[in-house]
Formats: sequence, C-alpha cells, structure tokens
Amino acid sequence: MMERRCDICKNLFPTKKLKKINGWRCLECNKQKRKEKREYLKREVLGIRKRSDLLKEWKEKRKLNESKPKIKIKTRKENIKDIKKIKSNNYFTQIEKQFLFRKYYNQGLEKEEIILKIKKNKEYLDNFVKDLITKQTNEEDLNKKFKEEFSKLIC
Ligand SMILES: [Zn+2]
Repeated sequence: MMERRCDICKNLFPTKKLKKINGWRCLECNKQKRKEKREYLKREVLGIRKRSDLLKEWKEKRKLNESKPKIKIKTRKENIKDIKKIKSNNYFTQIEKQFLFRKYYNQGLEKEEIILKIKKNKEYLDNFVKDLITKQTNEEDLNKKFKEEFSKLIC
C-alpha cells in the first residue's frame, strides 16, 4: 500500500487516508486546520480580536517568518550616509528606525503596529530635539542628549 507523510504532523499514512490540500494532510490535521480556519473567520467576521488570540497568531507568524530571510542589514556606505544625515540636523534616521523596528519585531508586533509605534517615537524625538534647539543647546550636546533619549527607547 502507498504511504505518504502528512505535511503537518509528518506521520506516515496510507495515501487514501490523506487529503491533498496545499500538500498532503492527514484527516486529523485537516480537521484541526479547518477548525482553525473557522475560528479565524469567526473572529474576522465578528471583529473579535482577543489578546490571547493575537498573541497566538503572532507567535505562529513569527515561526513562519523565522524561515524567511532576516531583515536586511545596512551596508557601511548606507550607514555613513545616515551619519551624515544626523550631522545635517536630521536626527531621526534610518538607523534609529531600524533599531526600533528590530526591537518591536522581536516583541512580535504586527508590521502596522510597528510603523505606528515608530511614527510616535519619531514625533517624540523630533519634539525633544526641537525643544533642545529652542534652548539653544549646542550641536555636540544635542547629539549626546538625542542619543541618550533614543537609547531609552531601545532598551
Ligand atoms: Zn497530520
């Protein structure tokens, strides 16, 4: 008798006991998947997004993401470009964004949430810098204070 592995639980089954849906699934895994899909649709339709559900979902997504290539690390040239930007008074740069992105990504946040959080962080830091400028803080102190403030966000 022909046997195949279920793509989900990896157990061997006679082929006729498997279903072909995005690969092969045993009856038990298929039941489970269908249940998950039903739950998901129920939540989506009713707009119910329980925190525990979200956490579970993110955890699953993260598992998927782990098999994907990691976030691109910047080249030295790109970093130098960003450092130049800092010097020209653009304080919140791609480097900062990347740090925050990694932090929130590792916390398992959704992309939309990360973007929102980074936007808020940027606004906060922009105001922080504006305030220092109005206090006529010199460039060196400004850079130092900005870095201090920024490091609070990433720890
Ligand atoms: Zn299975």
